Amino acid sequence: MTCEVCNRINYIVSKNKVKTTGVLKLKKYCNVCRKHTAHNETKKLD
Ligand SMILES: [Zn+2]
Repeated sequence: MTCEVCNRINYIVSKNKVKTTGVLKLKKYCNVCRKHTAHNETKKLD
């Protein structure tokens, strides 16, 4: 998951490949912003 504010990757999410419905967006705590921000799903981290 990438912070929408600072674009830093904060969370690595291993998503179920069966249930893939668009880009996931969640409010999570960002250590860089030091607050809860919107996080977008990171598509691939190879
Ligand atoms: Zn951030």
